[in-house]
Amino acid sequence: MTALFAKRALLPGGWAENLRLEIECGHISTLAADGMAQPGDTQVDTLLPALANLHSHAFQRAMAGMTEYRMAGRDSFWTWRDLMYRFTAQLSPEQIEAIAALVYLEMQEAGYASVGEFHYLHHQKDGSAYDNLAEHSDRIMAAALETGIGLTHLPVLYSYAGVGEKPLESGQARFGNDMSRFCRLVDQAKAHAAGQLPADCRVGIAPHSLRATSPRDLEDVLQAHGEGPVHIHIAEQPKEVQEVLEGMSARPVEWLLENAPVDAHWCLIHATHMTDEETRNMAASGAVAGLCPVTEANLGDGPFNGATYLQAGGAFGVGSDSNVLISLTEELRTLEYSQRLRDLSRNVLVPGSEGSVGQTLYCGAAAGGAQALGRKSGRIETGQLADLVAIDSQDPALCALQPEQILDGLVFAAKDHVVTDLWSGGRHMVRDGSHIARDSILKQYRKAIEELVDSL
Ligand SMILES: [Zn+2]
Repeated sequence: MTALFAKRALLPGGWAENLRLEIECGHISTLAADGMAQPGDTQVDTLLPALANLHSHAFQRAMAGMTEYRMAGRDSFWTWRDLMYRFTAQLSPEQIEAIAALVYLEMQEAGYASVGEFHYLHHQKDGSAYDNLAEHSDRIMAAALETGIGLTHLPVLYSYAGVGEKPLESGQARFGNDMSRFCRLVDQAKAHAAGQLPADCRVGIAPHSLRATSPRDLEDVLQAHGEGPVHIHIAEQPKEVQEVLEGMSARPVEWLLENAPVDAHWCLIHATHMTDEETRNMAASGAVAGLCPVTEANLGDGPFNGATYLQAGGAFGVGSDSNVLISLTEELRTLEYSQRLRDLSRNVLVPGSEGSVGQTLYCGAAAGGAQALGRKSGRIETGQLADLVAIDSQDPALCALQPEQILDGLVFAAKDHVVTDLWSGGRHMVRDGSHIARDSILKQYRKAIEELVDSL
């Protein structure tokens, strides 16, 4: 049993003072406000439910900064993707593990307790399967084990280069599986997770997109592994919307909602390009919108239809996707700023006519992120997983604020270093602002990058 004492904590009903909280088997077992610290308690300033990072491609962290040079007339999401393919062609299992460990450390230091790893790099450099089909899944799980992050592993079904079952291109050879091999891979990953990882970790599935699967395969994979979580990339780019419209006679979100059993177990990643009708129907489905505002800005995807979605009661969470920058505060404020820049307006993302944007974004992403990863967390309540983050309210960015303004300060004015402590499923991984395995993980990362850069 671990106990902690917070000067202030955000409970579902509002702020509590002098809260003592006990953790047993990774879950919050007792809560008592207006109490006293006891000897041995970990003492923190302000305690919040920690967020889930619902969408990550960990390996892409290592190419951050390599794609920001403008080439005359040639830059687009699709040229970025070409470089990403060349990069993935070089990665070894050891490098994948070292990069993922660094990424998960950075996420935890930024205040994320868990991650949804949307994992599509499955095979050897020549495209053939490893003897252990789930070799790379095992590496991702090893990185999760080392960092203590709560992992929801999402092996990706990637079978085609485009709508209409176009054969894979050479750069996609390491991603490809047909249905039967994919199901074997998922079974192996599930067995490995059950044997190796803490009980809060789980394995779902991710049909990559409507481009990379077929309607028949989508139906089959949902039959085999549809209990969730189910994540899918959707409507990120106008060209993708056009391709689906031409090949499948409907817009991507429209097609998915009409043809798949989309419900609260689903997470639709990006969902950037939606009509108002699609937006309201998606909100009504109960699925989570997996928003990745920093990556969507970096790749020039476009802004999410946020105001309409929130007014319709839609669930959402955030993810760092390409991991070009891992920053929880930056992710949340970029989401709101994308709306302000488009609408020439302020304080857009609140349901109803007034409210705190910081609280709407933080608490909304806490609930939606947990839902998307199948974690019982996102609220500080007995029986919930102890996914907790402590921040320092005496940081210069926050010290002038009243408790009810702290989430606005966190989202719009603070940097991630206000995080002092973090627990993932009760595992106390960040202390005094640093991950407890920081030195060894950084050392492994630098070694992996040295080898990788030499091979590029
Ligand atoms: Zn993605």
